[in-house]
Amino acid sequence: MALNYIIFSVIERPIYAKITFVMYNIHEECGVFGVYGHPEAANLTYLGLYALQHRGQEGAGICSSDGKQLQVEKSMGLVADIFSEKRLRRLPGHIAIGHNRYSTAGSSVLKNVQPIVANFALGSLAIAHNGNLVNAVELRTSLEGEGAIFQSTSDSEVIVHLIAHSKKNDFYERVIHALKEVSGAFSLLILREKELIAVRDPYGVRPLCLGEVDGAYVVASETCAFDLINATYIRDIEPGEMLTINEHGLKSLKALISPRKAFCIFEFIYFSRPDSYIFGRLNVNEIRKEFGRQLARESNVGADLVIPVPDSGVPAALGFSEVSSIPFDFGLIRNHYVGRTFIEPKQSIRHFGVKIKLNPVRRLLEGKRLVVIDDSIVRGTTSKKIVKMLREGGGAREVHLKISSPPTIGPCFYGIDTPTRRELIASTHLIEEIRKYITADSLTYLSIEGLKKIVPDSHNYCAACFDNDYPISFPSERLEQMEFFFR
Ligand code: AMP
Repeated sequence: MALNYIIFSVIERPIYAKITFVMYNIHEECGVFGVYGHPEAANLTYLGLYALQHRGQEGAGICSSDGKQLQVEKSMGLVADIFSEKRLRRLPGHIAIGHNRYSTAGSSVLKNVQPIVANFALGSLAIAHNGNLVNAVELRTSLEGEGAIFQSTSDSEVIVHLIAHSKKNDFYERVIHALKEVSGAFSLLILREKELIAVRDPYGVRPLCLGEVDGAYVVASETCAFDLINATYIRDIEPGEMLTINEHGLKSLKALISPRKAFCIFEFIYFSRPDSYIFGRLNVNEIRKEFGRQLARESNVGADLVIPVPDSGVPAALGFSEVSSIPFDFGLIRNHYVGRTFIEPKQSIRHFGVKIKLNPVRRLLEGKRLVVIDDSIVRGTTSKKIVKMLREGGGAREVHLKISSPPTIGPCFYGIDTPTRRELIASTHLIEEIRKYITADSLTYLSIEGLKKIVPDSHNYCAACFDNDYPISFPSERLEQMEFFFR
């Protein structure tokens, strides 16, 4: 997304070119994984990143330590393509961290692939960060004013500089000092020669959990990474908690004060893998199914068949079918070898995306009244193409589109890659207008009350993309700039 926007901005709004460059490069979706105390730390990290591939597909990296020095390997591309046996052999040691990243296209992007490695007064460190910092632009400007030279345009690098610039003598105090300066979402792994540190922002926006395998500790964005390596889940890293893991064992520190919790509700809707347990042992698949059941309770309709938009619509469609008693089937077949169209960085690819990705099963659909379940509508482009495809290619008689989340009206500033406000169709159009645009016979969304009823302790969640209630405030200047572009 970022690069398209930079070019657009440079052409259309030259005055704001610099600021958009910085702002839009900080939209990231990521997955992190770390190991302490395993002879095959890099190999485990490779597997962990493989399981977390859905959280970012544009670049990945692993940094390991043998107790004396750090080694890093990173590239653009998918985990399995980046890490050959030869490359993994270049990552010795019993400690490692890894990162999957989605970012922009373009020549400068490799610089933004994490882990970011740096040397400073107290030794070497590497960081892997999931989430967005909302005050990174301001911090960066001020650090640059003090002489800091940045290697990348990623917001995460600000953390490295803040740690390096801190006057505290003790490393942990430096980290806490740095993290008190930043505002936003961070599930953060820090690797030093002899230890692994895991910290979660005081709101707990992005998930981060702790596990154990063969006596070694592992930390991951989602538990699906533990399953692959036969690790046992121990617990979540708490919001505001800093966990240090070294030769003395595991030590927990309540490092940052939590004003409130603000777990990202969109992790349940789209982002996390359904087999993961996040935010205190909640299974993503079960929650998605329950969204579908609730959708059926709120808006049943006479139809012959319920079909999901695969993959993220599948659990909700099963739930909908269960409550409505309308049979379920796979009326759209997905080609799994195509990346998620939404996050393809080039507009031209996104235009072809739906056809490349989905094919209707005419034998099942012909002459039928369909309930079609998808998890969300962002720009509306996908839904419009799917409805057309179901009628023309599939021969459907009626298409009733049901969305297992409320209308997406606000962009995410905390780490989910949503487009600008003005591109979010539900922020500028009424539901009936969207229905007409996508040419469905009916369009229904899950109500916000329904969503909050399903998610336990929903007051502990950020649902800003649905209710515009942003729990972590932005510097006022930043908001003005954002509103200018998002309007
Ligand atoms: P759109 O065509 O822009 O309305 O995209 C809607 C599709 O994008 C839905 O099928 C969603 O499953 C998917 N989607 C929603 N949010 C995201 C996201 N942050 N990243 C990638 N895909 C998404």
